[in-house]
Amino acid sequence: MMQNELLKAAYSPENFRKKGHQLIDELADHLNAQIYQESTKTLEWHIPEDERVFWSNFLENGNDNELFRNILKRITAVHNPKCIGHQVTPTVPVTALTAMISGLLNNGMAVYEMGMAPSAIERVVTDLLCQKIGYDTNSRGFLTSGGTLANLTALLSARKEKITNDIWNNGHKTALGIMVSAEAHYCVDRAAKIMGLGEKGIIKIPVTDGYQLDTSLLESELQKAKANNIQVYAIVGSAPSTATGIYDDLASIAAFANKNDLWFHVDGAHGGAAIFSEKYKYTVAGIEKADSVVIDGHKMMMLPTITTALLFKNGNHSYTTFSQKADYLLVQSDEEDWYNKAKRTFECTKTMMSIHWFTLFKIYGESIFKEYLDQLYDMGRSFGKIIEETPQFELAVQPHSNIICFRYVDGLRANAALNTINQEIRQQLLEEGDYYIVQTKLKEVHYLRCTIMNPFTSEEHFSVLLSKIISIKNEITSDLH
Ligand SMILES: *Cc1c(COP(=O)(O)O)cnc(C)c1O
Repeated sequence: MMQNELLKAAYSPENFRKKGHQLIDELADHLNAQIYQESTKTLEWHIPEDERVFWSNFLENGNDNELFRNILKRITAVHNPKCIGHQVTPTVPVTALTAMISGLLNNGMAVYEMGMAPSAIERVVTDLLCQKIGYDTNSRGFLTSGGTLANLTALLSARKEKITNDIWNNGHKTALGIMVSAEAHYCVDRAAKIMGLGEKGIIKIPVTDGYQLDTSLLESELQKAKANNIQVYAIVGSAPSTATGIYDDLASIAAFANKNDLWFHVDGAHGGAAIFSEKYKYTVAGIEKADSVVIDGHKMMMLPTITTALLFKNGNHSYTTFSQKADYLLVQSDEEDWYNKAKRTFECTKTMMSIHWFTLFKIYGESIFKEYLDQLYDMGRSFGKIIEETPQFELAVQPHSNIICFRYVDGLRANAALNTINQEIRQQLLEEGDYYIVQTKLKEVHYLRCTIMNPFTSEEHFSVLLSKIISIKNEITSDLH
């Protein structure tokens, strides 16, 4: 019998029970306050150094019983309807329970016997997603830790499939390249750099006035690459791009990829979930032609971070990406061993992310994903309309999704002055902590950026936000005089 008192206390089921019940009560109170009490702030702003000092002191002198409560007080409240900044979903509360199951049971799933239920559930969930994309039964997918890692993995699969040299074992001999929108998420750029493509191997296609990848330039860009002895093997479409929320024309990109024998990858980290919506499915028209698709569960599908699906039209491609030997884990077999996940994923150990997804499918059915996406995309359009109708503001582009870029323009002409004022407005909003929004630069112009992730965010919130911005602007300019 183990005698160490410290370890005994740490593993005490009764301590866990007591703390757990108390925590659930605190989290439920937090949800209630954030969703339903209008006076609640999205964050209580502290500069990073003050926050560091607080936690450093807390480690020395803080009361254990105050720990969880202090974390709760010092976070960005994603369940607050005024939290309309980054693309972080307010998780459906039941998935906090599945996250707890994963945390406690710790079935890492590198091989099947290290997590039977989550491995099998992962197959069920990814099959469902493949079916929704419009893939046939040859498709397969898996879950992995984030869109960033999934995009890298897809581009590695693409290279394996399209380049005949065995680069995995022998390294690069020739210059390779991928084509991607200039507005694509920075992680695609990073993936290409990790793969050794270098700056010249990332062929950035300029966007149209509507911020879509300009497909009319694809042919000439490909010829240019060829003339420079760069072998292009893949093209990435954004669904949508992170900064603007604008969907690329996936069908046109698919046709170009097909004609030129390129791998077509869709980065649907944010908005791939539109496959669930009758109303907004048109935004991803052509997605079923993609060789691979990434969808983040922790963006538009209400799941905890980090929960990402990588789906392949031809399931075989998902098995060939990493052919390194790790024989103690991965026994070669003739039948398809979909259940030994580490053969196909970048990770060895990962969290039991499949159970979050499965739980929502099981309890609420797939229509919850449709309802969520429709509500948020509808609100994106509503907010766009409100901005258009308010003379002090201008939209960067008509929103395709729940991401809206706009700026304050009233009475000012020069872009430099406008950039400064919009930056100041955003900083002021952050420090007030009532509404949380972010900012982005598009073609050298500074925009305020909102992402509506919360189904409780309403038109009323937008109107109040715009009035707030106008009064902040007036304060700033009166300070100058
Ligand atoms: C968020 C996002 C990513 C990165 O995904 P993570 O899950 O944060 O790693 C990649 N591409 C797009 C379009 C995104 O919106």
